[in-house]
Amino acid sequence: MSAQLFLDGVHRSFDGFKAINNLTLSVDKGDLRAVIGPNGAGKTTMMDIITGKTRPDGGEVLWNMSTDLTRLDEAAVANLGIGRKFQKPTVFETHSVEDNIRLALKAPRGVFATLFHRSDKAEEARVTALLDQIRLTHLRTEDAANLSHGQKQWLEIGMLLAQEPDLLLVDEPAAGMTDAETMETAELLKSIAGQRTVIVVEHDMDFVRALDCRVTVLHQGSVLAEGSLDHVSARDDVIEVYLGR
Ligand code: ADP
Repeated sequence: MSAQLFLDGVHRSFDGFKAINNLTLSVDKGDLRAVIGPNGAGKTTMMDIITGKTRPDGGEVLWNMSTDLTRLDEAAVANLGIGRKFQKPTVFETHSVEDNIRLALKAPRGVFATLFHRSDKAEEARVTALLDQIRLTHLRTEDAANLSHGQKQWLEIGMLLAQEPDLLLVDEPAAGMTDAETMETAELLKSIAGQRTVIVVEHDMDFVRALDCRVTVLHQGSVLAEGSLDHVSARDDVIEVYLGR
């Protein structure tokens, strides 16, 4: 199978410091992939490069083995169907849960519009299905402001799903969540993968274990190890990087 996303020898320095150093990474369509690594490993910079927020100094980021994302700006990358969920939840607090989803359904990819329109039946079916998938059906008329931190994260994931991304990039979704929310989030992301590709950057190893997916370990801007969590966490070089031994 050919890669949907292929980072080929990507470099990016900041003031002479190599944040991304010959990074090569391949992710197939429908994969769920966890990217882990100590602070400063280059995870955020990698996400910034994929989404067109940061331009690399060298290398290519190929989408479906044809389009080089490094030549596009953020809006153009979003428009290709690449959605990004930042760590902090961003929802419309003074609108209900279901109206947040409706807004996302109407917005161009990468932008959440602020205008309400009358909804039609097909749209309502989508709203209902999405609310079910993100486990917020029972709170659909609640103001988003009244949701827990974890529920706000799910709502924002729902808003991104409303935009039908082919690839969803998720930055530390479990940060600040309760244990129960963390496990539910893992189930949610697993339910999204298959139909869409999902790349998750995460620190919480219990969460990564629950994702039960291929793991890429970044270190000093390149891939140190890749495989199951059991495989990578048994490697001496990975243990050394994490424990600083
Ligand atoms: P991670 O997300 O894995 O913690 P980052 O991608 O944030 O790692 O950072 C990788 C390295 O690049 C860090 O040493 C960081 O200080 C540096 N870095 C990232 N962005 C910038 C920037 N805009 N200016 C200077 N240094 C940066």
